[in-house]
Amino acid sequence: MQASFKTTCCYCGVGCGIVVHKDRQGKLHVEGDKTHPVNKGMLCSKGMNLHYTVMDTSDRLLYPEMRYHRNLPRQRVTWDQALERTAAVFASIIKKHGPDAVAFYASGQCLTEEYYVVNKLIKGFIGSNNIDTNSRLCMSSAVAAYKLALGEDAVPGTYDDIELADCIFVAGANPAWCHPILWRRVEAAKAANPALKIIVSDPRVTQSCATADLHLQVNPGTDIVLHHAIGRALITAGHTSSSFIKEHTNGFDKYKDTVMERTVEEAAAICGISAEDIYTTADYIGNATGFMTFWTMGLNQSVVGVNKNLSLINLHLITGHIGKPGSGPFSLTGQPNAMGGREVGGLSNLLPAHRVLSNPQHRKEVQEFWGGTELSDKPGLTATEMFRAMHDGSLKAIWIMCTNPLVSLPDVRFAEAGLLKTKFVVVQEISNKPETLRFADVILPAAAWTEKEGTMTNAERRISYLSKLTDAPGEALPDAEIICRFAQKMGYHGFDYTNMSEIYEEHCRLTAGTNIDISGLNYQTLQEQRSVQWPYHSGKSTPRLFEDRQFFTADGKAVIHSFEDANKSEQLSKDLPLILTTGRIRDQWHTMSKTGKVSKLKQHISSAYLEIHPEDARQRGIQADDIVTIHNGRGQVRVKAQLSDTIKKGVVFLPMHWGKILNNDLHRANNLTNTLLDPISKQPDFKYSAVQVQRY
Ligand code: SF4
Repeated sequence: MQASFKTTCCYCGVGCGIVVHKDRQGKLHVEGDKTHPVNKGMLCSKGMNLHYTVMDTSDRLLYPEMRYHRNLPRQRVTWDQALERTAAVFASIIKKHGPDAVAFYASGQCLTEEYYVVNKLIKGFIGSNNIDTNSRLCMSSAVAAYKLALGEDAVPGTYDDIELADCIFVAGANPAWCHPILWRRVEAAKAANPALKIIVSDPRVTQSCATADLHLQVNPGTDIVLHHAIGRALITAGHTSSSFIKEHTNGFDKYKDTVMERTVEEAAAICGISAEDIYTTADYIGNATGFMTFWTMGLNQSVVGVNKNLSLINLHLITGHIGKPGSGPFSLTGQPNAMGGREVGGLSNLLPAHRVLSNPQHRKEVQEFWGGTELSDKPGLTATEMFRAMHDGSLKAIWIMCTNPLVSLPDVRFAEAGLLKTKFVVVQEISNKPETLRFADVILPAAAWTEKEGTMTNAERRISYLSKLTDAPGEALPDAEIICRFAQKMGYHGFDYTNMSEIYEEHCRLTAGTNIDISGLNYQTLQEQRSVQWPYHSGKSTPRLFEDRQFFTADGKAVIHSFEDANKSEQLSKDLPLILTTGRIRDQWHTMSKTGKVSKLKQHISSAYLEIHPEDARQRGIQADDIVTIHNGRGQVRVKAQLSDTIKKGVVFLPMHWGKILNNDLHRANNLTNTLLDPISKQPDFKYSAVQVQRY
């Protein structure tokens, strides 16, 4: 007898619907859900092979393990033993050093219920805001920019706007590889409407450029200069909406003065492109009735990431292309549930339902709702700050769940050294592969996709329900259950849920009256409707925000921000003359804990490589396939060279997925990246590190 279940892909923020078929032998097979509004039956290579990651349990952690001393081997223990000892160590550290001596580092791949309980535990009961997630490395610049410009962390549009747009500008992203099903929709829209203009700005010629009418091959770090120049060209050509600017925005006059400081020709020279291409971009935007922008890590992962985001959002605010069909700024979420995590307040500077940590009334509301301890007003440590605090000794215990920071953090050797200095390390994981396990005093085996139920929110604010289809191997447990059991061992009340829907409904109740209100939502509604887009009022989704031109600011107007356009990244030098940028490849996901298990996904690209311009290679005596060393003061990487004139001269590219292979970390791109942070979002500057390359 075969059974079929509907669920959602657990990789990127596109959030494709999947049907999982289970045969009589328990074997799984997946296909795209033809009834799902996001993907309409399509899946990319990663989604199509998801069942292999579940069926191959050879790398799964099966039992809790623990060691009583760093010099002793870990041994198998019961759940009670593991959680009681963890609770005793945490309680002792908190008593001696205060609540800020412990921290949780989680993931944009956690389900909303998991995020909710861990956030409630540390903020509402332990009394610290030391929870951050790998979403800090992914979307935090977009979050801050939305709040500053629109008054709320809210993506205004919906994927259905793609088919209604007649100009799409992709800034510093390669969705053809990183958000493939969204890009299939863009390609289909272009095929149906050849008049649709597509512009891509990127220092590399990527697969996304194949569909574009115009590729702006900008120098790294010049995005603000480019966006300001487009803004100037729009203003001088009369392509702005004076009525929208007057009635619905603040800040235009100062913005105009700022963008007029450079001519388009001066800006073009800084960006390394032609002025004509900037004018053409402005013409495409100015003549469009529907204008969308898509962006992701190229803007977010920057020391000026918030301003890069704002400079792009400004193009919508001066033209009025927001809150109407086919229009709007649209950040593409890297992870499947980064947005769900923010909804429950799962970052060190947030509170549930997008409440503000610094607002005493908001803290009071949450504390009264949870009934725990008084909420601290001190912002918690962000991702990279946690690892710095391990070095200075102020952070004594870290609990890492569902993420692999020893591949994904910048300057990762520094992070690794920090973990070694930490008194107590808990790792909650599904796989026995991540490098963090070497440092773990306690290992807690977690259930994976299809082995637990819960919800996720994709990039267009769409909440979907994921059902449990299979049992977890060994004694692995759902992440939310692990956290709740631990909270009970700590003696905290309010964690005795009998099922996941109770957690979800508690979260929904806490959103009542906020901008993201889903207080009328529950599992039953999600199962019946398949998915909904927040806010969810009177039984109705909200596909598009701001249609009434009322923004979430105090006076209801959006804010056009002005700022300088200087690049504040690491300086190049005679010894380190090349700009290293990092990114994803088509068939791998993050640190490869899951996609690395699927042999089919290695057929596209099987190992790490350095993309380098032939002229830069020639100057260094490097030929195709030579082994090269990429180095700077932080570390080195050694991989094969791939010569390509699709990358800008002076720029080199490394994929970010590979970690240690047989104790050799020389494929790990983050040995080289720097820890400069955006001052507001605290997101690292992954896309711009100074390096030198030489033949090995
Ligand atoms: Fe999964 Fe993203 Fe691929 Fe869709 S596009 S199948 S969500 S990885």
